Amino acid sequence: MSFLLVLNVSFSQKLTKTEKKIVKRVTANTPESIDFLKKVVNINSGTMNHKGVKEVGMVFKEAYDQIGFKTTWIDMAEVNRSGHLFAEISGDKGKKLLLIGHLDTVFEEDSPFQEFTMVNDSIAHAPGGNDMKGGDVIILYALKALTDSGLLNKAQIIVAYTGDEESTGKPLDISRKDLIEASKKSDIALGFETSTGFSYATVARRGSSGWKVEVKGKRAHSSGIFNERVGAGAIFEMSRILNEFYNEVKGEEYLTFNPGVILGGTQLTFESALSKGTAFGKSNVVAQTAVVKGGLRFISEDQKEKTREKMRAIVANNLPHTSAEISFTDSYPSMGPTEGNTALLNVLNQVSLDLNQGEIVAYDPGKRGAADVSFVAEYVDCLDGLGTMGNGAHTPQETVNLNTIEDLTKRTAVLIYRLINE
Ligand SMILES: [Zn+2]
Repeated sequence: MSFLLVLNVSFSQKLTKTEKKIVKRVTANTPESIDFLKKVVNINSGTMNHKGVKEVGMVFKEAYDQIGFKTTWIDMAEVNRSGHLFAEISGDKGKKLLLIGHLDTVFEEDSPFQEFTMVNDSIAHAPGGNDMKGGDVIILYALKALTDSGLLNKAQIIVAYTGDEESTGKPLDISRKDLIEASKKSDIALGFETSTGFSYATVARRGSSGWKVEVKGKRAHSSGIFNERVGAGAIFEMSRILNEFYNEVKGEEYLTFNPGVILGGTQLTFESALSKGTAFGKSNVVAQTAVVKGGLRFISEDQKEKTREKMRAIVANNLPHTSAEISFTDSYPSMGPTEGNTALLNVLNQVSLDLNQGEIVAYDPGKRGAADVSFVAEYVDCLDGLGTMGNGAHTPQETVNLNTIEDLTKRTAVLIYRLINE
């Protein structure tokens, strides 16, 4: 008995009385938060399912209305996306916060993966459960624990759930305008994308962008391929380009590029927005056309530009009787590691130590993809990866670990409490 008592005393010294109250609230609300997660996972919200994304938004809207936040649905039909849900409380006490999540997932309505099911007593197989409806739920229930305890009076907090994180609406100056404006009213942005482990947070993320190569060749009978009149055909030219990308552009730290889809033949259709198409070709006809669409991730604008230059040079160096074009699209800027971000990590680390949850260190930026937090990184100090833990995000094996939700929500609630009282 006395042994337990000693442990308990040393634990409680680190948190203030108020913080202990917050932690208790989080524990009390945890079963409800897991039910909430199940409910929103079971509503399909693939990025292009505009109705589903909004439906998930409306479930969160109601919850934020209930805890006294002013909510706004921002329609994004203009960029062929659903919209964003913003929830705000206004005040001037302590650090002003922007908390970032997203409502959409990579699993569209035609995906076979639609349902939240338990794998065992702690792991759920759930489309978008980890990326990132789990993180969205952590934000909500951290704020709920704080409002339940009457601790958000006079705080300035904006919750921004975008509806198109997995495939952003273009142009970005429309689809990310509201998020960027919210960051200009804030001091700090916290991102709740998938956690990379219980002991990690993200202080830097790579940016991402897109590229597309289109090749034209000369249609002819296959017996003439390689001769002066016919040349190499579109498919050989495309394979040359990809091979040279692989051999000559690959290798820099934090730089990756991935061709995600390829089509080639006599005729093809390609719907860029859906990343889908059809190809027709015959083995006795030299291919007339080929297309590849890919992504590119980088740690700085400089790295991005230099890589694009190398790719352009390779694409221009065509095989006989072929031509090729490459186009680039900007998507996510990079979030560089800054002193401000590291200072924020130190605050989170202290919270975790005080909760007896162990040390938190910075995660390798090379292992993280792009996220919405990157759009605001130039205006505020940022931390990301504060969401749920799980595996297999973006695959039909995606799981979310429900056992960690309680601890991660406690961390978030105490972190927010300390920041708004700084
Ligand atoms: Zn995500």
